[in-house]
Amino acid sequence: MTLKLDGKNLSLTIEDRLKKDILSLSSKSNRMPSLAVIRVGDDPASGVYVRNKEKACSRIGIKSLLFHLDENSSNKDVLDLINNLNDDQSVDGILLQLPLPCQLDSVKLISKINPEKDVDGLHEQNIGFLVKNQLSLRSCTPAGIINLLRSQEIDIAGKRIVVVGRSLLVGKPLSIMLLNLNATVTVAHSKTRNLKEICQEAEILIIAVGKPNFIDSSYVKSGSVVIDVGIHRLKSSTNNVSQLCGDVLLEDVIPKVFAYTPVPGGVGPMTVTMLLVNTTFSWQKRCGLISTVDDLLS
Ligand code: NAP
Repeated sequence: MTLKLDGKNLSLTIEDRLKKDILSLSSKSNRMPSLAVIRVGDDPASGVYVRNKEKACSRIGIKSLLFHLDENSSNKDVLDLINNLNDDQSVDGILLQLPLPCQLDSVKLISKINPEKDVDGLHEQNIGFLVKNQLSLRSCTPAGIINLLRSQEIDIAGKRIVVVGRSLLVGKPLSIMLLNLNATVTVAHSKTRNLKEICQEAEILIIAVGKPNFIDSSYVKSGSVVIDVGIHRLKSSTNNVSQLCGDVLLEDVIPKVFAYTPVPGGVGPMTVTMLLVNTTFSWQKRCGLISTVDDLLS
């Protein structure tokens, strides 16, 4: 029987723990943690992600503040808001919901967020801490994947791990996290030659390419662990009903592997949960409390 790495279940367990931590520590800090979410424009997928984050915050006692800016906002408009939120002592986390409209420079704007409030873990200071293997706010999706593997006691140290995709959001920080945990890591991308042969060597194969059903069982080593980061909404040609799928053709791969992440319910919920972990970490640090979440960030 193939093991399903259930991100939804683990998310609930971690949320429960965070909720208790926040409740027990809020009397010492005199305030609850708070997260500011900046959304620019009306991209519908971003709307869903933002609502999911707001709901998750309210479940565990984090106050969320939504700043919804006009589609035509300038870099200066967003920067002014970021500066205000940087100065606001009651705000612990600032999240700039991506993607942004094309006139905006996401890399430049992210680098203006106070790194201590960078709960997406994308600021160069936090990426630097990651490279140096020092505790800091971590990129949410990669950190969620690490916690998912650990939750089922899947060893990372010494493993041959292939990460397909090298984005700043997923592939690059994930490969550094795995290296810090003593894996032997190969990072593949669109210019990689012999991708299939490289994937076939992986004891843990992690796919973040953004192409639906890209990986089938011919890429996968028997008995390996397959982590599917991709998320896509596809319309069925027969009944026009839309369904979610990942970068991995799961029904083909599952019989061959030891463990896999489902889509939905695998990596996605863990991404939201790590945002909550980062916000809790930032709040504890900013309020002079002892951190209770270091184990989830290392
Ligand atoms: P991205 O920025 O588009 O990066 C895709 C990566 O895949 C790039 O490094 C690209 O290589 C590589 N790639 C593209 N085609 C390839 C091919 N044929 N062979 C090998 N590598 C190839 O995407 P991303 O932000 O990392 O996201 C990837 C997927 O994960 C998307 O479906 C996204 O929606 C999903 N995602 C899910 C979550 C979640 O919480 N579940 C979070 C983040 C992202 P080059 O660098 O050479 O172009």
